[in-house]
Order: sequence, then C-alpha cells, then structure tokens
Amino acid sequence: MMLPKPDSIIRDEILSLKAYHVPVSTGMIKLDAMENPYSLPADLQAKISELVSSTPMNRYPDPGAIALKESLRKAMDIPVGMDLMLGNGSDELIQIIAMAVAKPDAVLLSIEPSFVMYKMIATFTGMRYVGVPLNADFSLDMQRILAEIEQNQPAVIFIAYPNNPTGNLFDAEDISRIIEAAPGLVIVDEAYHAFAGTSFLPRLAQYPNLLVMRTLSKLGLAGLRLGFMAGSADWIVQLEKLRLPYNINVLTQVVAQTVLEHIDVLTQQAKSIMVQRAVLKTQLETIPGIEVFPSDANFILIRVPQADSVFEGIRQRGVLIKNLNNGHPLLNNCLRVTVGTEQENEQFIQVLMNSL
Ligand SMILES: *Cc1c(COP(=O)(O)O)cnc(C)c1O
Repeated sequence: MMLPKPDSIIRDEILSLKAYHVPVSTGMIKLDAMENPYSLPADLQAKISELVSSTPMNRYPDPGAIALKESLRKAMDIPVGMDLMLGNGSDELIQIIAMAVAKPDAVLLSIEPSFVMYKMIATFTGMRYVGVPLNADFSLDMQRILAEIEQNQPAVIFIAYPNNPTGNLFDAEDISRIIEAAPGLVIVDEAYHAFAGTSFLPRLAQYPNLLVMRTLSKLGLAGLRLGFMAGSADWIVQLEKLRLPYNINVLTQVVAQTVLEHIDVLTQQAKSIMVQRAVLKTQLETIPGIEVFPSDANFILIRVPQADSVFEGIRQRGVLIKNLNNGHPLLNNCLRVTVGTEQENEQFIQVLMNSL
C-alpha cells in the first residue's frame, strides 16, 4: 500500500500558504511586534505571583470566565446590554467569526494593506477573500469599497481602526457608511485603541451588524493571549457555539483579572508610549530622505530609500523592526517600528542613521 503523502491529503490552498513568520529576536532590541516595552510595577508583580501560586492548575478554568468578563466590562466601559466574547488573542476571534460565516463562496472583505491575518484566516476557513486597496495616502477608497460590497455581498468585513501596518485612523463617518452598506457583519478591530482614544463601542447600539474587537496584547499583556469582542447577543450567542471550551486558561484568567483591577497602570504606560511616539516622530522627521507617516497607534511607518538594506543594517546593529517592502505595492520601501522606551527609541534612531 502507498503511504499517504501530505500533498495528496492537505487542501491545495494550505499547501501553497506560507506560514506566519516570526523572526528570532534573542538579544535584540525588539521593536517589531507592537509590544508594550514596560513591565508591571513590583507590587503588582508580587500580587500576581501569589495569585498564580495559589491557582489550582489541576482543574479546568471557568469555561465562561465570568469574573474576568466582569472586570473587562468595568475596565473597558463595555456598553450595558452588549454581550462579550473572549478569545485566545483576538486572532482566535477572527478565526471563530470566519468559521461561523464560511458558507460555500462566502466572502471576507477587508482593505489592503492591513492586518495579514484577515486574509490568512479567510484561506484557513475556505472563504473567498476580497482585499480593497487603500488610497495612496492610506485613506479608505470609499467609491471602490462600496462598489466591491455591492458586487461581492461579503458575509463579513474587517476594518482595523487604527489600521496596522499604516498606523492611521480611518474617517469614522466612512466606516459608518460601510456598516450601513454591508449585507453582513462588520468587525471594527480596535487592537490599538489605547493609543488612539476613539472607538466604535458607543455605536454598537446604533448598528446591529457591528461587532467591536479589542485585545490586551498591545496594551501590555501580549504574553497572556486575551482578546475580546462586544456586540449584540443575537450574534455572540451563535459565535459562542464555535468557541472551544476552556479557550482562556486559568493563569490568563487570574492574571488578566488582577491587572484589569489596576487598569490605570496600563493606561499610564500607554500615555507614556504616546509621548514617546511624538518624540520619535519628531526625530524621524529631522532625518533627510525619510518619509514619516502619521500614527494613532504604538508604531510608526516610515519610507526610506533602499528599505531592504536599511532594514538589514538596523538588524545587524541589534535592533529588530519590521520590513514591509516587497509586500503590498503601497508599502514600497516602508519599514514599521514599534514605539519602545525612550532609550530604545534613541538607539533605534542612532542605528537607523548609521544604516542609511
Ligand atoms: C496585533 C493585532 C491583532 C491580534 O492581536 P492578538 O490579540 O494578540 O491576537 C488583531 N488585529 C490587529 C489589527 C492587530 O494589529
């Protein structure tokens, strides 16, 4: 008997996928993944240690994470009357939504360039993906988006607000027009909300086909993997059927809940990051030959001459950022740098100048 080979069993679209690549960063200044550079204060860390050591790990977690959800509602001002759903990172929530709507030929629509997981997850779940290019200034091409909605009747539309990797906030009224024109769900992905100060949460009551997604990752808890989504019970009740039991582990539940009780710590850190973002932007703008794009997130997109060699020069000098060249044509010669501590940012500016 012939041994079964992966390429005769695995779906063609999976065989031709490239796995999401995470580069080695040991020993480097890590400014590639939009992590919060600060650690938690010592007293809070001590409190967490105590709670973790007394958490029974022989038992399954609370499948509904009731206490954690309560803390999230308070800390994040979730509108009363809206349901809340938790994911192992918001990536998992994107996947759950796609699985739920992936009828044969169903379309997932987003804009490009944006968060790459929308397209990847469309492929994982066998959906047809439609990516509508942004204008050259990274604003929404409304005429084109509305035409593609009309033509493709997407089951779900994802809009990152602020957008990754461009860093800008789209016009809120444009997004409202998209929600009104959509024949299906619209997810406003607010992963960078902490650095933007504007949200679609208050519009949930107005738009029954809107879900607002957030994550604790960019706020300072990337290692815990906790994302959440708010919206009307009509949708959340259906999506909950696809959530694997116990997707939020006991340690994430207890630690996240404790940190959320001190949410001011994280919001203060986000404020510091916004201050450093302004400093970094000003410094970048003094370097001749670099184009600096506006940012409402915790990273800055820049365009340099010869991005590949500049990126490599920066990397060899010990700083890891993200090279977006050779991806989307709108990102030609673009690099993305996460805002770090004051020192890390200064070091980045130094190695950038040495790499130009
Ligand atoms: C980082 C990011 C996410 C994923 O966050 P996790 O909760 O860590 O899975 C989702 N959406 C956007 C736009 C992001 O940039």
